[in-house]
Parts: sequence; structure tokens; C-alpha cells
Amino acid sequence: MQTTKIYRLPYQKSKVFERLKAAQIEAAKVWNECMVTHKECRINQRPWLNQTALQKLTKGKYELHSQSVQMICQAFLANIDSTRANRRAGIKNMKYPWRIKRFYPVSWTAQAVKYSNGKLTLPMGRGRKPLSFKLDLDFIPGAVSLVWNRGFELHIKQEAITEEKKTTGVKAAIDLGEIHHSAVSTNNGQGLIVTGRGIRSLKRQRNVALAKLSRKQSKCTKYSKRWKKLQAAKNRFCLRNERQIREYRHQATRQVVEFCQTHDVDTVFIGNPDGVRNKNCGRRHNQRMAQWEYGRDIDYLTYKFKMSGISVLIGSERGTSSTCPECGRRHKPRGRTWNCPNPECSYKNKHRDITGSLMMQVLAFDKKPEYPEAIKYLRPVSTGSSRCADTRQSSLTRTNIPSTSFEGNRLISTQSISVV
Ligand SMILES: [Zn+2]
Repeated sequence: MQTTKIYRLPYQKSKVFERLKAAQIEAAKVWNECMVTHKECRINQRPWLNQTALQKLTKGKYELHSQSVQMICQAFLANIDSTRANRRAGIKNMKYPWRIKRFYPVSWTAQAVKYSNGKLTLPMGRGRKPLSFKLDLDFIPGAVSLVWNRGFELHIKQEAITEEKKTTGVKAAIDLGEIHHSAVSTNNGQGLIVTGRGIRSLKRQRNVALAKLSRKQSKCTKYSKRWKKLQAAKNRFCLRNERQIREYRHQATRQVVEFCQTHDVDTVFIGNPDGVRNKNCGRRHNQRMAQWEYGRDIDYLTYKFKMSGISVLIGSERGTSSTCPECGRRHKPRGRTWNCPNPECSYKNKHRDITGSLMMQVLAFDKKPEYPEAIKYLRPVSTGSSRCADTRQSSLTRTNIPSTSFEGNRLISTQSISVV
């Protein structure tokens, strides 16, 4: 299994910046050629190109490392495959790649990357000067990508150590939510609630701050001096906010995983709240739902569980929060407590999200669990390191430091790519 570490490149001289930009433009040209040829094949009903044909077509034409070009071809074909699968599954509004790209992330395979004496070297093909970065890595770097996210970032893959699979017989279900980030219940009577109010409040702060800046920006001429100043302020704010939310998210998921580890859980079920989001519930609620990044939560949880040897099942959570686990009666709760409307049922005054996770246990493991005797409440705590990373970036201009500098090994990576 691999995880990805993100390193922000804090400052580049304009010469270096232009080189990085040129590499991304070159990568976009490869993508565009793939896209145009594929489109022609589609329109003229000729057989579509496979990997060998695409690689042959793009070989030796671009100012990139040969494997970087191949990786773009592979990414393009993966895109085609998933679009085709989606269209076959009935999602007809899925489009095959059609847009001319200006920039595309450049990737290097693990073989091409060289790292020695604190210097990361990324080749640009024979006869061209490689890109090199001063980096302090405490691991052997795998594949690397050069990504733009309001500034350049290096995404470096790292081999992660996974523990052996457990077989203890203890199961757990996780209900993801917006107010309560996750509600966990186990089949041996344990419960955990991690609050998501910190994340929610950061998102609200972002919405208010961005609205204010956009209002000011709307009064200036586009690309004027003042407009650019405001845009820089927006970027700065968004980046910090993103880092803070990411830290909270990692903390919250880590708390869930640690809870499962202490209670010897061997299999977890994560409810996928797809479908909740697609309802139209008004402007403000829609914005809240659109900003609820449960996909990322599922990603983080999955790779953290995998690393600690816990099996993960993911399934729909449809109807789990509106069904009584005692008598099966449907009821949509209003507040945070669940009261069964059936007068004969004793399921009253229970926690709404824990109820949801209990019903998930019924669905996933086919066994009715007990309501937890004790529920633990936790909240993700900021270590202040996201701010620390900020200040260190400005004082250390030449050497590159990781955007995440968390204490100890609590946060293993900033994003997960799980390879099965
Ligand atoms: Zn009931």
C-alpha cells in the first residue's frame, strides 16, 4: 500500500517557475494529442487506440521524460475506461475527454526518481536539464507528481507498512455526518462520537471571508492591481483554510481508527451517504451539502484501517438513520435525539447518529446489536501546526519544507492513494 506526502514548493525564482510551468504545458500537449486522436477514432468509427499504440504515437515528441509521457497515456486510457464503464452503467451524461487542456500535472515513475544527499532529481528526458529540489525526506521516494494547487506542490508516494489482518470477531459500523463527523458503534457495546463542528465552523468562516473578498473584487477591473491583490488574499486564505480542515479531518479519522484498534475491531462498515446530497433543499443547505467531503473521509478511513489490519466494507446507508433498530418502524428525527413513535417500543431518547450506525450493523453483519452502554465523545484538536507550517514557509525561502509538520507519527500522510 502507498500513501502520498504533499510538499509545497514555497518560493521559486522566476526562471525555475517558468521551467515548472513549461513542463506542465508540455504534459498538457501530450494529453491533448491523446484526446484529439481518440476523438477522431470515435467520430470515424475506427478502432480505439490501446496503450501500445498511444505510447508509440507520443514517443519522442515531447520535452519530457519518456516514462512521464507514458504515465499521461495511461492516465488518459484509465479515464476512457472509467467513462465507458459509467456510460454502460447508464450514466449517459458522462463525456469522453474533450477539453483542450493548458496545463497537466507531470508525473515521474519511482524508477525515474533519484534521491541522494537531500536532493530530489526528476529527469526531463535525455539531453535536457533535470528538475532538482532540495528536500529533507526520511523515506525512499516512490512516484512523484508535480501538481498545481494555487502554487506548485510535489506529491511523493511512500510505501506504507501494513499490519496483519485481524480476526477477533468484533464488528463496527461508522455513520458519517456533517455535525457529528463520525458515529461509531461496535457489536460489543461500545460507542464513539467525533464531532465535526470544528470543520463546519472553518467552512463557514471560509464562505463568509470569500464572499467579502469577492464583493470587493466585483467592483474592480479584472486583472487590475487591486484585483490581483484581492485574489492573492483569497488564495492565501483558501490555502490556510484547506490545511486546517485537512488537519482536523486527519485527526478525526485517526481518532476513529484508534478507537477501533483499542476495542479489537476486525471489520468495519462505512455507510456511504451518496444520495443525501442530490436532494435540492435550498441555497444554504445545498452549499453545506456540497462542501461536505465525505468521499475524502471514506478515503482517509479506508487507508488508515487497511494500515492497521482492519477490513473495510463500504455500502449505501440508505434508510439507516430513519429506521428503528428495535421494531423497524420508519421515523425521520428532527433534532439530535431519536424517539421511536411506536408506543410499545422502548427505543426512546437515543442518539440519532449512533442509531444510524446500529442500523448499519444490522444491514452489514445481519445481527442486531445492543445500544452502547458508554458513548465516548471526542473532538479533533488543532495542534496549531498548520499555522506553524505557514510561518516556517516564509522564513525558510530556499529549502522546501513539508506543508504538514505534525507531531510524532499521528498523521502519516496528507492524502491517501490506496492501491489494492
Ligand atoms: Zn421502535
